[in-house]
Amino acid sequence: MKPEQLTDLSRLCIHSITTKPLDITSAVNKYASLGVSGITIWRDAYGDYTPLQIGKMIGRSGLEPVSLCRGGFFPSVDERKRKAAVNDNLTALEEASDMEMPMLVLVCGADPQQLPEVSREQIKAGIEAILPRAEKLKIKLAIEPLHPLYADTRSAINTMKQANDLAGYFNSPWVGVAVDVYHVWWDEDLFGEIVRCGKDDKLFAFHVCDWKVPTGDFLLDRGVMGEGCIDIPGIRGWMNRSGFKGFNEVEIFSQIYWKTNQDEYLNRIIDSYLTHT
Ligand code: ZN
Repeated sequence: MKPEQLTDLSRLCIHSITTKPLDITSAVNKYASLGVSGITIWRDAYGDYTPLQIGKMIGRSGLEPVSLCRGGFFPSVDERKRKAAVNDNLTALEEASDMEMPMLVLVCGADPQQLPEVSREQIKAGIEAILPRAEKLKIKLAIEPLHPLYADTRSAINTMKQANDLAGYFNSPWVGVAVDVYHVWWDEDLFGEIVRCGKDDKLFAFHVCDWKVPTGDFLLDRGVMGEGCIDIPGIRGWMNRSGFKGFNEVEIFSQIYWKTNQDEYLNRIIDSYLTHT
């Protein structure tokens, strides 16, 4: 059963990284003027502005602040680096608070010099270390499972099951899961794990883009919705039927699209959002 086709932009959020060539002011203004409803800010997008100023900018634009990307990268064989990562995540939480972002997305990290299970234990310890501050600031922590081809350096959390297990361990309303179709579309357990995540009230975020066939670069060649092989409407339907009421967040890293006219690209994103998401 397919979900109802999207007929408006009320649940459309765009990640600032999607239009990386635009400075923060242009991104905010353009998204708002196109009728986009929400924005997720990447920490590399601040430019000359402080998080406080960006928060005010978003407030004036009418966009809803959705999340800050990204925290995480907890594991390392080097204890000093693990401590530095915790501090960086605490800084990210303050930035999110300044921007009035309700959520910090965690790309959990991995160190190829140790086994993934060791990295997973360090991820657990990292989240444990920042959770009290997140609770205090009322900022949700969204664990994003990453495709297994990122298991070397970017994340030892590679499936929805692992993300659910980790989120479940904390048993906190402030720890949940960010479902990114690019990372989880291939997983035979995806439906069951989305249902499980919904029952636990931990479906925090939904990221969309497409998997191009063939893919030229496994980091920076993501496709616009409808351009690849992911059944995005199908997965969105599972999310919605599992109780997810948040934004559909367009998050596209693409060296190809970053070189194109960003106004035309944004129009294409909105068109694809309404027809292929
Ligand atoms: Zn994502």
